[in-house]
Amino acid sequence: MKCEIICVGTELLVGDTLNTNVNYLSKELSHLGLSVCYHTTVGDNPKRLEEAVKIAFERSDLIITTGGLGPTQDDLTKEVIAELFNRELIQDEKIKEELLQYFTNREFSFTPNNLKQTFVPENAEVLANPCGTAPGILMREQGRVIIMLPGPPREMTRVFDEDVVPLITQKSKQLVISRYYNLSDIGESAAEDRLLDLIDTQTNPTIATYAKMGEVLVRITANGDDEKALNTLLDQYEAIMLERFEENIFTFSKESLRETVCKLLIEKNISIATAESCTGGLIASQLTEQAGISKVFGTGIISYSNQTKMKLLNVRKETLDKFGAVSEETAREMCENLQKIADAELAVSVTGIAGPEGGSAEKPVGLVYVGICYKGKTQITKCHFNGERKMVQIKTANKVFHLIRK
Ligand code: ATP
Ligand code: MG
Repeated sequence: MKCEIICVGTELLVGDTLNTNVNYLSKELSHLGLSVCYHTTVGDNPKRLEEAVKIAFERSDLIITTGGLGPTQDDLTKEVIAELFNRELIQDEKIKEELLQYFTNREFSFTPNNLKQTFVPENAEVLANPCGTAPGILMREQGRVIIMLPGPPREMTRVFDEDVVPLITQKSKQLVISRYYNLSDIGESAAEDRLLDLIDTQTNPTIATYAKMGEVLVRITANGDDEKALNTLLDQYEAIMLERFEENIFTFSKESLRETVCKLLIEKNISIATAESCTGGLIASQLTEQAGISKVFGTGIISYSNQTKMKLLNVRKETLDKFGAVSEETAREMCENLQKIADAELAVSVTGIAGPEGGSAEKPVGLVYVGICYKGKTQITKCHFNGERKMVQIKTANKVFHLIRK
């Protein structure tokens, strides 16, 4: 089955938005065994959108569009496609009811242009969008299938995963089983490099890596009709994954490192406190993203200046004078003192140079010391991170979660 993706949105053409939808859909469709033959990106322009759909219709069996389903004037995907295939747009009472409810529940004021989203081309199927207001739409036309998905990536992936994937797998009568391995403390290219022998020769199962803010998600997908055989095959690959990434695998799911660690702390009831210099509270903020973390997280100190390091964390002046704020010794005093002050089982400290200024030959930008004091034992990790300021901060936070996990 040949498929084609059309992404609609002027913001994609002018470079304001990176087209992550096409990336996601292509990977997913390929893994499901479909051939993605063309990508088209087109602006919010009805004439050019019509042209793009016409061309796609000539050469592809499955056409997936993203974007342009919303309430505003420039959202035209549904209108253009309905018109092209002479279908009337009919108001769907159920969508209307749900939409009104959505606005009422959130106390949002309802503007009439929202009703645009309640119209569906005749004889089309509605694909529910639990994350937003514009549902997806599936249309069958002359033996071809056209699927329209919303533009916002969170909504698009949800509708695709929940409604489109089952449809494709049902149709091919194939079982598709995926296993996930989420890795930390390794870059995507290094991870891919370790899998290159398998990726280069892959047929079934297929292997894909997805990089996201310091984590690399590896997905291994097997296709076939015998569940037991697929699982045996996946077990063999799992053994390889465990052998090659023993240090890095933190979860066997899509769950993020942050979430995995937070859940672990809550589950094991390990109290944690943080003292942050160069990350300015990022680690504390990431901890508090987790619902229920208050059970174990009570103290987060931002000790950005030397004064604060001394005043709030009792770091000795001699230590700061002799070794500097960015040093193993300071990181050690920060976390050891913090543990006592906060009376936490696990105390974390970070001190480093996020840049762009402040580096030297001896202490370059990106140098960070992470202190972990757990049950009376302290471990200091010296790290060198590359990238600009924000990146250094993000990598530091990731490293902290990685070290806690270990
Ligand atoms: P909405 O109801 O939000 O208007 P929509 O289906 O009309 O949804 P668009 O208006 O095209 O979608 O896009 C909404 C948001 O999603 C925008 O912020 C846009 O930048 C983002 N977006 C759209 N298409 C893509 C894409 N291909 N990749 C990444 N982001 C995208
Ligand atoms: Mg829109």
